[in-house]
Amino acid sequence: MKVHAVTVCPDRVDVVVGVDGAQMMRTSSVPGLAERVLEILPTLEKHLCDNPAGRPFAEELADTEIPHLFEHVVMEIMALAGSPRTLRGQTRWDFRRDGRGVFRVSVEYDDDLVCLGSIKLADQVMQHLLGAAEAPDVATETARLRSLRKLAAS
Ligand SMILES: [Zn+2]
Repeated sequence: MKVHAVTVCPDRVDVVVGVDGAQMMRTSSVPGLAERVLEILPTLEKHLCDNPAGRPFAEELADTEIPHLFEHVVMEIMALAGSPRTLRGQTRWDFRRDGRGVFRVSVEYDDDLVCLGSIKLADQVMQHLLGAAEAPDVATETARLRSLRKLAAS
């Protein structure tokens, strides 16, 4: 999974994400991924998710699009960094328009710096889950993001 572009809009941040190969598009294609993401971010299990099947995210997690998981990881990191849990995210795709494996993830934000930092950290978490990088130190990094918010507010 690769982040191609990040655009800050007044009400949300848009992230264009690319996934290589049909077999890499779903969480179910990566053995153990659902369990490993919950070890890093246990509170993901409680996420609400507006998916067509109406499934809770804890179930959805086992078999969904990799960029949809990325969206939830971004929202969770933002929440851990102090953003309200009422903020929403969305993952859409139109392969005919954008090309195969290209997804558009949109996340609402309260603090743009915290949002951009959360996207970067979520990307590191995904790279780790997909076997391409060491695990980031989520606790330390979210604490750093939280302190960014305090600085901006003072
Ligand atoms: Zn969702």
